[in-house]
Amino acid sequence: MIAIPSVAATAASFEQHYGYPPHGVWSAPGRVNLIGEHTDYNQGLVFPFAIERRTWCAVGHREDRILRAASGAMPDAAEVSLDELGPEQLQGWSAYVFGVVWALGQHGVDLSGRPGVDLELASDVPLGAGLSSSAAIECAVALALNDEWELGLTREQLVSVCQLAENKAVGAPTGNMDQSASLLGQADHGVLLDVRAGSSELVPLHFADEDLALLVMDTRVSHAHADGGYGARRASCERGAAQMGVTSLRELGPDDLPRIAATLDEETFRRVRHIVTENQRVADTVATLRASGPRAIGDLLAASHASMRDDFEISVPELDLAVATAVANGAIGARMTGGGFGGAAIALVPHNLVDAIGDAVHEAFADRHFTQPNIFTVVPSQGARRDA
Ligand code: ADP
Ligand code: MG
Repeated sequence: MIAIPSVAATAASFEQHYGYPPHGVWSAPGRVNLIGEHTDYNQGLVFPFAIERRTWCAVGHREDRILRAASGAMPDAAEVSLDELGPEQLQGWSAYVFGVVWALGQHGVDLSGRPGVDLELASDVPLGAGLSSSAAIECAVALALNDEWELGLTREQLVSVCQLAENKAVGAPTGNMDQSASLLGQADHGVLLDVRAGSSELVPLHFADEDLALLVMDTRVSHAHADGGYGARRASCERGAAQMGVTSLRELGPDDLPRIAATLDEETFRRVRHIVTENQRVADTVATLRASGPRAIGDLLAASHASMRDDFEISVPELDLAVATAVANGAIGARMTGGGFGGAAIALVPHNLVDAIGDAVHEAFADRHFTQPNIFTVVPSQGARRDA
C-alpha cells in the first residue's frame, strides 16, 4: 500500500529511513497560473496562485558534513558532502534538493562550518504535469533549511535562491513565477508578480465565496515541441524588442500596436501582440476581480486563450477542445495554462457544474479519439509553511 503523503506520513517515512524522528516538517505547494503566459521573460505581469497539493520535507540534524535525501517519489536515495556541492556534481532528482543548498551558498550563506542534514520528501503534486512540482520541492527544502539553520532570509530572498537552483543546478531556464507562487501564496489569493519592478502583491480571488471551482484539464499531451517552441518564442520576443528599440516588450503597450505592426514582419508582430495584450489582460483581470469579482473575468480568460492560439501559436487541438467544451457547457471562462504545446487548460466553473463539465470534456475527447484527459479541481491555498 502506498501511504498518502501528509505531515505524519512524511515524519514516519523519515524515521523508517534514518532510524530517528525528524526535528521538524515543512511543506510548499505547487501552483497554477491564472493568467499571464510567456510574459515573465518579457519583464511583464503574471498572476499565479498556490494550490492545495504540496510537497513535504522532514528534516533531521547530523554531526558530519553529509546531506542525505530520500523521496517517496523516487526509488533511490541520494547523498552529497557539503564540501562537494558544485552544480556539475548534482544530477537527477536530488539536484532540486541539493541545488537549493548550493544556491544558499551562492546567495551568501556561509556553509563552511555547518553540519549536514537528513531530508525526507513526500508529495501529492504530480511530477511533470505542469503544476510545478519542481518549485514545490525547492521551496519546501529552502524554507526548512532557512528555519533549521536560522538563516533569517526573507521569502523574497528564498524565491531568488530557489530560482537560482532551478536555473543553474537543474539547468532549466525559467523565471521566478513558480517559486513566487509557492513561497508567497495565501489561501484564496492570487500572487500578482511584476517582473520588471521585482514586486509582488496578493489579490483576493473569492472563488469559493462566489461558488466557483477552478478545474484543471490535463490533456496529457506531452510538450513534444516545448523546448524548441519555447526557445523560438523567446527569440521572437527578443527580436521584436530589438527592432522596436526597447530593452523588453514590457516597454510597449496596446497604444503602440499600430506602430509595431508597421515595423515588424507579420509573424513577429503577432508574437509581440500576444505579449503586449497579455500584460494588459493580467492588469485588467486584477482590476476586474477587485471591482466585480471572479464571475466577471471570463472574457479575459477567453481572450488570453485566443491570443495564445492565434497570435503566439502555442496551443494544440486538445487544449482548444478542452477550452471550447468547458465554455460551451457553462464555464465562466477557460484558457490553456503553462508554456504550451500540450499540458493543461484551466476553467473557472460554477460548483454545481464541475461534474457535468468534466463529463462533457471526457466525451468530447472520446469523440475525437484523443487520449482521455485527467480532470481535477484545485483550490487557491496557503504557500510554504512549517507544519510540525
Ligand atoms: P513540474 O515542475 O511541472 O512538475 P519539472 O520537470 O519542472 O515538472 O519538475 C519535475 C522534476 O522535479 C521531477 O522529474 C523530479 O526530478 C523533481 N521532483 C519534483 N518533485 C519531486 C519529489 N517529490 N521527489 C523527488 N523529485 C521531485
Ligand atoms: Mg517545473
